[in-house]
Amino acid sequence: MIVEIVTTGTELLLGEILNTNAPFLSEQLNELGFDVLYHSTVGDNRVRMTQVFNTALERSDIIITSGGLGPTQGDITKEVTAKLLNRPLFLHEESVTHMTNLLARRNLSMTDSNLRQAMIPEGAQVLANENGTAPGVIVEHDKKIIIHLPGPPHELKAMFEHAVVPYLKSHFNSQGAIVSRILHTYGIGESSLEEKIKEFILSQSNPTIALLARQGEIIVRLTAKATSKNEAQALIDNLENKLRHNIADYIWGQDNDTLEANIGRILTKKQLTVALAESCTGGLITSRITDISGSSDYLIGSIVCYTNRIKTDFVDVTPQIITELGAVSQETACLMATGIRKKFAASIGLGITGIAGPTGATPTKPVGTVFIAIDGPAGIQYQHHVFNGQRTDIKYRISQAALHMLRQ
Ligand code: ATP
Ligand code: MG
Repeated sequence: MIVEIVTTGTELLLGEILNTNAPFLSEQLNELGFDVLYHSTVGDNRVRMTQVFNTALERSDIIITSGGLGPTQGDITKEVTAKLLNRPLFLHEESVTHMTNLLARRNLSMTDSNLRQAMIPEGAQVLANENGTAPGVIVEHDKKIIIHLPGPPHELKAMFEHAVVPYLKSHFNSQGAIVSRILHTYGIGESSLEEKIKEFILSQSNPTIALLARQGEIIVRLTAKATSKNEAQALIDNLENKLRHNIADYIWGQDNDTLEANIGRILTKKQLTVALAESCTGGLITSRITDISGSSDYLIGSIVCYTNRIKTDFVDVTPQIITELGAVSQETACLMATGIRKKFAASIGLGITGIAGPTGATPTKPVGTVFIAIDGPAGIQYQHHVFNGQRTDIKYRISQAALHMLRQ
C-alpha cells in the first residue's frame, strides 16, 4: 500500500509555518507498516490542488491530506475532492449539531461560513473532530482512499489516532510494522561515536542504524521492520543491548525524552534544588528547566548577571577577579556558582560565563569560550569549552553542556 501525504496551505509554501503534520503522519504510518513514498505540499488554489490530488491518485493507494477543512474561503480541500471525484457535497446534520454545540460553549453562534465545514462529499465517511469544528472525511473511490484531516496539529493528531488508525487497521490486515528507536548521546563527536559502533554499522541490515547530528547532540536511530510491532521492538532491543556495550557512557535518554525532563527526574529523585547565575546564556538554561511542569519542586530561581556590576553586587564575584582574570574565567564562573547557591539556599549552584559572539573575543578567549561551574554536594567542578557556531547556536550548546553537568 503506497501512501502519499498531501499537506495543504499557502502559509506552508510561504514558509510562514513549519510543516509538522507531514512528519507526524509519516512516523505513525510507518509504524503501522505502510509505505509512505510521497510528500506533497500545495497552496489553497483549486487548480493546483486538483493537479496534486490527481497525481497522488495515479501513483498512490492512500492519500492523506491535512488542512483546508475550516470555514474560510481559502479552505477548499473537500470541494476539490468532491469535484474531482464527481461526488456532490451534502450537509451532514450530525456535524452541524456538533458544531452548534461547540460554538455555543464558546458563546458563538453558527454562521453560513461555519456551515461550509459540514459539507461532506457524497458517500464519504465522516470523522468527528474532538478538538474543533471541522469534521474530517474518508472517501473510498475506485480502490483508492482519500482521507482529509484538519490542519491544526492537535485536531489532526487526535483524529488520526482515534479515527484513522482504527479505520486503517480494520481495512488492511496487518501490514507488518516498522519501529524506530532513538538513543540520545552526549559528550562524544559523530565520528568517534561511529568508530565505537562501526562493526554494527558495517553489518547492518535489519534493524538499520543511522547517526544524526541534531541541535547540540548526536542521536543514534535504530529502525526495524517485522511482521508485528512486538517483533520489530525485539529486534531493536537486541541491537540496542549490543550497542550499549560500547557506548553506554554516552547515552542519556531514549525516544522523546528531553534533557530538561531527564534532569527534573534526577533532581527530584535526589531531592536536590538548583539555582543559577547566568551571564552569556541570558536565562536560557533557566527557561529550559522551566519548560517542565513541576520544575518549581527543584528550581529555586536564577539571576541573569550580565554586567560586571551585577556579578560583583549579587553573586560575590570580586572586582579584583574581574580585573585580573576577567569576567569570562574559571574563577568568575566558580564564584557565581557558589554565590548563587548560598544566596538562594539551593543544594546546587550553577554559574555560566562566556562569549557568545560575534564580538567580544580576545586573543586568548575566542568566540564560543565558556566557563560553566557547578557547586553542589560533590564540591565545585567546572568545565571550559569553546563552541562553534552562530550566537544562538553557541548559547544553545552552552545550555546543553550546563544541563548535562546537572545530571551528574
Ligand atoms: P481551521 O478550521 O483552523 O481553518 P483547517 O483544517 O482549515 O483548520 P488550515 O486552515 O489549513 O486548516 O490550517 C489552520 C492552521 O493549522 C494553520 O494556520 C497552521 O497553524 C496549522 N497547520 C496547518 N497545516 C499545518 C501543517 N502541515 N503543519 C503544522 N501546522 C499546520
Ligand atoms: Mg482553515
